[in-house]
Amino acid sequence: MAYVITRLCVDCLDQGCVEVCPVECIYAPKEASSPDRPNMLYIQPIECINCGACEPECPWQAIFEDREVPEMFAGDLSLNAQTVEQPKQFRVARPHRDAEGRLQPKARPTADQVLANRRRWDDKP
Ligand code: SF4
Ligand code: SF4
Repeated sequence: MAYVITRLCVDCLDQGCVEVCPVECIYAPKEASSPDRPNMLYIQPIECINCGACEPECPWQAIFEDREVPEMFAGDLSLNAQTVEQPKQFRVARPHRDAEGRLQPKARPTADQVLANRRRWDDKP
């Protein structure tokens, strides 16, 4: 088992999950986004120790245990698996810090914003 980041993360990328992952198994794509590799973070499913620390840190509710991924995001398991299949296309994600090394403030979306973000994907495959 592993946790999975879904497309609810696309273009959010505050990296709150990255700060708490004890094994640095959350990755970012090296290249600009594409339909096959959207602008989001990805969990490497073999390295993930299934600790669950990242899930409550995500303000966009984008992270699920693999067996709990909603049907509309079922394809995102294969997106995350790209970190195993194409490791050279990814780098370990690092928390955003300012010039003094301080962690950047996190997004604090409202419940309506979280819902609106989810609805962006309602009609997409
Ligand atoms: S479940 Fe734990 S090990 Fe896996 S990505 Fe989240 S924080 Fe990292
Ligand atoms: S905390 Fe959630 S939205 Fe932010 S980068 Fe991690 S998975 Fe994406």
